Amino acid sequence: MNTEKSNELFSSARKVIPGGVNSPVRACKSVGTDPLFIDKADGAYLYDADGNRYIDYVGSWGPMIIGHRHPAVLEAVQSVMKRGLSFGAPTDLETELAEMVIKDVPSIEMVRMVNSGTEATMSAIRLARGVTNRGTIIKFDGCYHGHSDSLLVDAGSGVASLGIPGSPGVPQSIVMHTLSLPYNDPGTLVEVMRMHGESIACIIFEPVAGNMGLVKPLPEFLTALKEVSQKYGTLLICDEVMTGFRVALGGAQEVFDIEPDLTCLGKVIGGGMPVGAYGGKKKYMNKIAPEGPVYQAGTLSGNPVAMAAGIATLKELEKPGFYENLDKTSERLLKGLENAAASAGIKVAAARVGSMLGMYFCEGPVNDFMQAKKSNLNIFTKYYTGMREMGVYLAPSQFEAAFVSAAHAEREIDETIAMAEKVLGNMYGRGA
Ligand SMILES: *Cc1c(COP(=O)(O)O)cnc(C)c1O
Repeated sequence: MNTEKSNELFSSARKVIPGGVNSPVRACKSVGTDPLFIDKADGAYLYDADGNRYIDYVGSWGPMIIGHRHPAVLEAVQSVMKRGLSFGAPTDLETELAEMVIKDVPSIEMVRMVNSGTEATMSAIRLARGVTNRGTIIKFDGCYHGHSDSLLVDAGSGVASLGIPGSPGVPQSIVMHTLSLPYNDPGTLVEVMRMHGESIACIIFEPVAGNMGLVKPLPEFLTALKEVSQKYGTLLICDEVMTGFRVALGGAQEVFDIEPDLTCLGKVIGGGMPVGAYGGKKKYMNKIAPEGPVYQAGTLSGNPVAMAAGIATLKELEKPGFYENLDKTSERLLKGLENAAASAGIKVAAARVGSMLGMYFCEGPVNDFMQAKKSNLNIFTKYYTGMREMGVYLAPSQFEAAFVSAAHAEREIDETIAMAEKVLGNMYGRGA
């Protein structure tokens, strides 16, 4: 494909923006290519600056679950825009979205809107520390919870793609309050809690780990999370920024029967606008300012245009059969990709929860970050580049999930599978 225009735009961007991008994974560094600059999107498709069309499996990294430029969302946004862009005062829209969230996610009794997933996790942790009067937190290797200081320890996503464990600029005095344990390892969790439980404010986890590829939670891991958090009075924070409204209307906690104290949301809840949220039990949410002493604020939080996009998106998701249909399309894709790999003689460990998919180029099972890192990144890079050349837009990292939207019809899925057959088939016998 000709990407001359994208390349030009990238070289201009690099002069004024670090790395030419406003978020690191977009730079495609780990797959050794330059990013495509996007001109527009529609339904399941992205169009780059050179006019090339791609079937999109990034979906703006998750939010676009009903496809790009959904008419209901565009209409809602345009109509609210006419009333003004921001007031810095309450509107009815904030209550409406809050009510929807509370109805759809039963563990959430009250919710506070913020502007990103990073803000949601950061604020939920502050709240957990505030109510427990404890300082230390537990997270899991390969889980990403945004880029705040205390959470950038052994994080997945962009940090994993770049192969750096944390980040300069995060002081040791902050990192020392974060314990990062292996995902899906109940033994280690129970042992660490036995030693330190009384000083652990919260355990934050991804209910489906989508920032190290895609790793499903083992039932015994979920049981351990529940037991130790109850035993030691530690708050359980379910980070559903990616999975919330993605894997089911009630998120991964509905699918896996998890009862968290606090839940973080983002991505889908904003329908493509910058929104995050954290919510949970009233007895904790009451402790947030101005009701309680735990401070958290935001100039643009609950922005009316963003709320309108979220409400319109959630209304689509609440329609009967929405997730069942999405599940069918996603299963078709997973099976097709697995078959494509099998007939090319390439070993993969593929998994899916709802419309989130992951495929590692190694033998399974992949239950944690260590195992995820065994994936053959050379094959991934060839796969990524080959697919992009054929018009399929995947996340430029092995450690990211793929997202199917309701705008992906059988036609797009079957085309994608056919291209995967070609790309993977071509690798066979060439020392891949
Ligand atoms: C994307 C993500 C975040 C961070 O959200 P941003 O809006 O990028 O700040 C946090 N947690 C999880 C699980 C995510 O996938």
